[in-house]
Amino acid sequence: MNQDDELCPCGSGKDYQGCCKKAFDQANSAREKLKAAMSNPEKAKELKELLKNLNKDD
Ligand SMILES: [Zn+2]
Repeated sequence: MNQDDELCPCGSGKDYQGCCKKAFDQANSAREKLKAAMSNPEKAKELKELLKNLNKDD
């Protein structure tokens, strides 16, 4: 079984490689980056401050 030839789960009938793989990889790497940042105490603190400031209106 070759994963590269798998049909895309979106139902387009194209293979996954030529369809949603790119979008999925991008979403995945963004999530991985966020996860990596959150597991780093310094970065997590930065992110929390950033989010706090974003949610503050005045
Ligand atoms: Zn697709």
